[in-house]
Amino acid sequence: MNYKDYIAVVEDYPKEGIRFKDITPLMQNGEAYSAVVNDIADFAKDKDIDVIVGPEARGFIVGCPVAYILGIGFVPVRKEGKLPREVAKVDYGLEYGKDVLTIHKDAIKPGQRVLITDDLLATGGTINATIELVEQLGGVVVGLAFMIELSYLEGRKNLDRHDIFTLMTY
Ligand code: IMP
Repeated sequence: MNYKDYIAVVEDYPKEGIRFKDITPLMQNGEAYSAVVNDIADFAKDKDIDVIVGPEARGFIVGCPVAYILGIGFVPVRKEGKLPREVAKVDYGLEYGKDVLTIHKDAIKPGQRVLITDDLLATGGTINATIELVEQLGGVVVGLAFMIELSYLEGRKNLDRHDIFTLMTY
């Protein structure tokens, strides 16, 4: 199966000059969605992972079904003001804006082994901020998994000490 057949490339969204990779056609197709999730679960299964962490919102779409397959928990990373209890915070910049990400302070125990998931690796800003949050709580990041990598943005360069898994490259 060629997963790229299920990605819609949208010109000039959310602003001019950006070629947005829309994963919703892939999610709508049960066979493609489950194949992608199974591939990521295969990458993760021998890593002795305790918990999966994913940034909102598309990190949930990738991470939750993988957590379900592995029989482990999922921890959401969210924009500021969305989590109801005490949080750790980090400022970050992304491909088209700036923001704050948060995680519940009790979500990860020191030494827990963490897989981070998102739909897409662009500059790596979101994932670097997510790594920082996990490490603030004492978690150990043992892998990063994405459906898509935009290799021309070289996000990988800032993440080279990590084990990175991606299924489609543009
Ligand atoms: P980064 O922080 O620059 O690596 O950007 C990655 C984040 O922005 C991810 O959370 C993506 O969901 C989102 N993103 C950036 N570009 C795209 C795109 O073309 N399609 C879908 N999401 C994108």
